[in-house]
Amino acid sequence: MLKLLAVVGDVPAGLSAPDDWRIVVEPEPDDPDFARAGPGERALLAAPGAGVADVARMLDGPLGLAAPLLDFSAECPRRADVSGERLTSESLAQALYDAAPILRALTHWPDARDRVDAHALGALAFAQSRDRRIEPAWAPDRRQGMRYPALFGVAGSRRLLDALADEGLLERRHAARLHRCGTCSSSRLNAAEHCPECDSSFLHDERLIHHYACGHQGPQSEFGARGAMICPKCGKRPRHFGVDYDSPGVVVMCGACGRPADPPVVKFTCADCANQTPSDGAEVVDWFSFGLTEDGVAALRSGKRPRVQVADAFEPIAQSRSLKEFGRMLLHDLDVAGRYDRPITIVRGKLESAEALVRQYGREQVAEAFRLLAELTGEALRESDLLAVSENAVLIAMPETTSENARHVLERLNESVLQNIAIDLSFTTTFMDRAEAEHFLAERGLRAEPVHGADAAAERRAE
Ligand SMILES: [Zn+2]
Ligand SMILES: [Zn+2]
Ligand SMILES: [Zn+2]
Repeated sequence: MLKLLAVVGDVPAGLSAPDDWRIVVEPEPDDPDFARAGPGERALLAAPGAGVADVARMLDGPLGLAAPLLDFSAECPRRADVSGERLTSESLAQALYDAAPILRALTHWPDARDRVDAHALGALAFAQSRDRRIEPAWAPDRRQGMRYPALFGVAGSRRLLDALADEGLLERRHAARLHRCGTCSSSRLNAAEHCPECDSSFLHDERLIHHYACGHQGPQSEFGARGAMICPKCGKRPRHFGVDYDSPGVVVMCGACGRPADPPVVKFTCADCANQTPSDGAEVVDWFSFGLTEDGVAALRSGKRPRVQVADAFEPIAQSRSLKEFGRMLLHDLDVAGRYDRPITIVRGKLESAEALVRQYGREQVAEAFRLLAELTGEALRESDLLAVSENAVLIAMPETTSENARHVLERLNESVLQNIAIDLSFTTTFMDRAEAEHFLAERGLRAEPVHGADAAAERRAE
């Protein structure tokens, strides 16, 4: 089958592609030929006159994000895999030859265009097939000041790359720190020094003059022109450098109000809203470059991102334990509670399944909701409480807590969940009584573990 070369822009008369390629001008998003062509069989040519929007529409459409871009339009220099100035049949053949290694690399991975995670997999395939990091590039046409050309035209590309790094598919390296306008968050800022008295940025350096005879020190302009200076304090004429006066340095002067502006105030003026933001305490945003990890390659190979897991979200919470450790500690706590007649409450929180939620709300939303739920739960519990996740259930053991007190804790947690989490996780909690807890542990074979508490409990039962 012939490989397909999609073209946007003005195709020069008589342009022909090499024998194994077929030129298709402006294919529709659902072009059946493109749907059949594999990842190593499609490339995009931006002919002169093509706009960035045309290129974005093709890459986020029939071509897929990772497809090679041959740019003869000069519009997409950062994203281009091969750039050229004059588009002829010869230069096109050369460009396709240069792009061949990328196409070969792309043939190894499943086609991601129609997957839920098309953008994520496209970004991974881009990094792998070019064997380079996904770097941010300056973008003066955007308020953010930078963009990721690898995800050309994809909204929220920065957030997506961050999420992929959180999942371990990419690793981050710091690339640039940009400041942000305090009013409109734009990073299109002009930094300038301003006069602390009158706010003018019309500042200049002046030589400082130190008059030995009277000890006065001031800017050159106070003394008048060099060679005809008069000391403004004592009225004498300092004549000889090193004998009558010297110059201990320079001072910043304001050309607008004439006063010293030392030290000047550094401010950012926003090119979008014209407001000024003092540099002290100005908000910053860090841009990172991203490199593919081994897990990233594995995801690429499987054509899937790892599933959103409730357990991953809860892992960083202080009370969180592995299911096995939770069981062991729970055995101990149950034993203590039984022996000394202390209260203990065990709760099972159920969630809608992660897959169902992802289908309904999208991956980022759900992952963020899980993170928030974990954080709120961690805050609601005491340090001595225990928590473990078993699939879509969160198990919580609260030693030294009556079920009434536990109910208060859960009510508060429920309120903050409703307040802070926008999507419906169908989060419900039920109490487990002692028998249910022991049954739960037995089901997991945890009774068999040689645990001090379990032995003690067994001894007590034997008595
Ligand atoms: Zn602004
Ligand atoms: Zn001034
Ligand atoms: Zn003097």
